[in-house]
Amino acid sequence: MKQIRALKETITTPNQTLILMHERPDGDCLASSLALAELCLHYGHKVTIIAPTPCPRFISWLPGVGNVIIANRTKREKIATIFKEAKLIYCVDFGATYRVGMLSHHLERATATKVILDHHANPEAFADITLCHPELPATALLLYRLFSAMDMEEHITSKVALYLYVGILTDTGSFSHSNTTPETHRVVASLLEKGVNVTAVTYFTQANIPLERLRFFAHAIKDRLFAYPEEGFAYFVIPRSDFKKFKLEAGDTGGLVKYALNIEGVSVAVKVSERAAEEIHLSFRSFGDFSVSELTSNHFNGGGHRNAAGGVLYLPLNEAVQYLHKTLSAEKEKLCKSIKKLGRTLHSTVEKV
Ligand code: 5GP
Ligand code: MN
Repeated sequence: MKQIRALKETITTPNQTLILMHERPDGDCLASSLALAELCLHYGHKVTIIAPTPCPRFISWLPGVGNVIIANRTKREKIATIFKEAKLIYCVDFGATYRVGMLSHHLERATATKVILDHHANPEAFADITLCHPELPATALLLYRLFSAMDMEEHITSKVALYLYVGILTDTGSFSHSNTTPETHRVVASLLEKGVNVTAVTYFTQANIPLERLRFFAHAIKDRLFAYPEEGFAYFVIPRSDFKKFKLEAGDTGGLVKYALNIEGVSVAVKVSERAAEEIHLSFRSFGDFSVSELTSNHFNGGGHRNAAGGVLYLPLNEAVQYLHKTLSAEKEKLCKSIKKLGRTLHSTVEKV
């Protein structure tokens, strides 16, 4: 309650305000930031929104994206000045300074009041106000709750509803991850009542795929997919040459990992991307109760959520893949059990009905 009162105070007091996203922002991070910006603008803040790196294409149609400053495409002095002049910084959808990449030293040194609005486990203690709820599926859902807790429901305009819907939609994997709860659907129902156009959102977030990208998916499924269903896992390995050849931009490989996860017998899928020489990013998805968040924080310098997480290895691509394979193989019994358990849960639910 005290935290919410303190948060309300920051929102209702006009300020020089910076809304900060994490690196390679996802739908929840961007949409939540835009929703918060709307609210702050209403209360007379001077708002700057910064993303450390560009926003992926599947969310770049959101109204207001053009106002987001992309730090790695902006003069360093300008970014330094924004951090220096900010009196208030909202950290949206992250709770650890390293998640803003090159901007972490600015964030750590900034004298502004810092507020964390997040849903990832174990937020760091760098902020003055921390509202972090790992039990919630999305930061957008946290924002929805906060709008009500601060008696600000009237500010959930149709535009804000669109942002919150997109945040929840994308972070729940279109309401498919285990973080999707009855509350998720209740909140979404009330957002739809504000006029969200579900078909338009689906079209722009999930369809509308450039042909080149679809061809890349076909190539990846044919030549870059390694599946071990008898051990419960599968992974894509995307070398740097593919990024060049298919002219892939940030987020263009998003959605690929799902194809590996959909293979019969697989409960954990990984997309291994060679971002740079010896900088390998890994994107994990799981079905069932196997936690890829635990796996990435124990073995892959990362974290995230139970069924969607990421990490990084600073190794040559082939060594990273070997290490991944060994680590997953060691978990094979758990992985296979996880799928069987899903089957059992389904049967017992059906029997109850
Ligand atoms: P994606 O696979 O879509 O890039 O990321 C899925 C989720 O994993 C994100 O929402 C985020 O919570 C988490 N995640 C991705 N990359 C990293 C990382 O490098 N470090 C940490 N701690 N979490 C990550
Ligand atoms: Mn995020």
